[in-house]
Amino acid sequence: MSRFWSSLTHDLKPYVPGEQPRMVELVKLNTNENPIGPSPRALQAIRDQATDTLRLYPDPQATALRSALAEYHKVRPEQVFVGNGSDEVLAHAFAALLKHDAPLLFPDITYSFYPVYCRLFGIHYEAVPLDDAMRIRVADYRRPAGALILPNPNAPTGVALSRAEIVALLEQHPDAPVVIDEAYVDFGAETAIPLVASHPNLLVVQTMSKSRALAGLRVGYAIGDADLIGALTRVKDSFNSYPLGRLAQAGAIASLEDEAWFQQSRARVIEGRERLTRGLVRLGFKVLPSSANFVFACHPAHEGAALAGALRQRAVIVRHFAAPRISDYLRITVGTDGQIDRLLSALSDILGSKPAAA
Ligand SMILES: *Cc1c(COP(=O)(O)O)cnc(C)c1O
Repeated sequence: MSRFWSSLTHDLKPYVPGEQPRMVELVKLNTNENPIGPSPRALQAIRDQATDTLRLYPDPQATALRSALAEYHKVRPEQVFVGNGSDEVLAHAFAALLKHDAPLLFPDITYSFYPVYCRLFGIHYEAVPLDDAMRIRVADYRRPAGALILPNPNAPTGVALSRAEIVALLEQHPDAPVVIDEAYVDFGAETAIPLVASHPNLLVVQTMSKSRALAGLRVGYAIGDADLIGALTRVKDSFNSYPLGRLAQAGAIASLEDEAWFQQSRARVIEGRERLTRGLVRLGFKVLPSSANFVFACHPAHEGAALAGALRQRAVIVRHFAAPRISDYLRITVGTDGQIDRLLSALSDILGSKPAAA
């Protein structure tokens, strides 16, 4: 609180990111980072950019990166927008496309940045409850809406909608922008990008942070009709003309060129997720069906906060949300095999040392 702050600043409720602790020997499974690491070709491309040319501004349009993404996703470069992480792309989408007289709709349990952006940009929203199985029900979105946004797979549940369900959603709201946040899509859901050609109201947002293991580089992007992309560009050019530096642009292009690394990394994370899920089920957890690089799990006899605290004492960090409906769940990132083993043995220690209530 300060007399120098604007009233807008006073009223903000900022997003609280998962912590980035500095303890050593820590098993860090709280922010959905990819344990396998970036493509060595991406790392080399970044090193190659660390030269005297860094005194020059980067390409403000990121032309080469946008062309590479267009080719990769089989769209035109005018249908691609890039930003400093998909969080920035999403922020521009909220400002450019999601503020209308009718409310913005998103699930009650979803990426907790969405209500934060609504407050920042003064957007009126309605949270649509997930069903009892923690699934998004498309029929529940049949109500007046200025715009829609949802992650697919949803976060923090990991549960995905099919492409047919996304089509149904788009067809319920042909006159409203619909943003699908596909931060985790590469781990097992169907992308909506092929629907862009037939749905001018669809914007698909992806990131290189998770499936390409480049969270530290900050590269996110959106694909949609050139008209929607034009709106994002107007907001970007009213905010920061050079969101992506030379290193980020070069690293992102090289990552797209290393398809073998990408496919292998996805497959290993998916295998790890199946192993983690089996281990948790064996310990008595209920695990939601995940299409992401994390699982969302609860134990019928133990509170989420207590489990998260006991794990922390054993140097294992997972994400716990003290929020209605999900306070007994843990969101656990799929780590390396060694990290999964450490987590499972810590849990078995915790559960064994305290008799189950039932
Ligand atoms: C991680 C995440 C993002 C943001 O990722 P960036 O690192 O900013 O690209 C966006 N949406 C969801 C649902 C996420 O989980």
